[in-house]
Amino acid sequence: MPVQGQPGGMQVTFLGTNGWYDSLTGNTCSTLIRARDYDIILDAGNGVAKADRYITQDKPVYLFISHLHLDHIIGLHTLVKFRLKKGLTICGGPGIAGGLGAIVREPYTVPFDTVQYPVTVTECADGACPVPFTVTCLPLVHPVPCFGYNLNLDGKVITYCTDTGVCDNAVTLARDADLLITECGLKPGQKSPDWPHLNPEDAISIARQAKARRLALMHFGAEVYRTIEERDEIKRRFAPVFPGLIVTQDDMTIEV
Ligand SMILES: [Zn+2]
Ligand SMILES: [Zn+2]
Repeated sequence: MPVQGQPGGMQVTFLGTNGWYDSLTGNTCSTLIRARDYDIILDAGNGVAKADRYITQDKPVYLFISHLHLDHIIGLHTLVKFRLKKGLTICGGPGIAGGLGAIVREPYTVPFDTVQYPVTVTECADGACPVPFTVTCLPLVHPVPCFGYNLNLDGKVITYCTDTGVCDNAVTLARDADLLITECGLKPGQKSPDWPHLNPEDAISIARQAKARRLALMHFGAEVYRTIEERDEIKRRFAPVFPGLIVTQDDMTIEV
């Protein structure tokens, strides 16, 4: 797919754009950011297995996990196929090390300490992540602990907020972002108060309040958006009211 946007910055590739499960519309969610000195991955749904189509594996890789629902971590069982020469640092909210350690182990898959490169799991504390670039991390609204991230590097701000209902922390994290990546679990007008997710109007409202320049929708509910045409309809309907709207599909790359 052609790259959209201005050349010369970071490249953001949507490896998996489905929420919940894989379907004909794509893999479960994972997003790759190719920055100058690092490769950064946001969540590890099944899409993460495609990362080595895009990266040389020569840079340090940082993986930020929003939460432990399987559509965000199921792809971790493919880590064993990578050869990340500068290692992998996995970052998440409090409790992430124990949560991942309970699943990424025998007999389910190869444990972190057995893959061919160093893997470190680290937890954000007091809203900051122990990584060599500026990351702010705040809790979102979801049935389990879930964290959104504001990444500031290479002179740009990219915010990642999934899965969540509408909340002040999403707006705070997205403040003045060059790109807000968020979820679109629901159709226009749909609500799910018992299992918080966003519809397109909610996502646009967060982007507007935060004055984010662009908004990329991903994590389209697999049961809700059954075809790519249904996603295209969101673009047709809402791009006129939010010109920075990007409706993602698997393997789409944009420049930030
Ligand atoms: Zn999800
Ligand atoms: Zn979830």
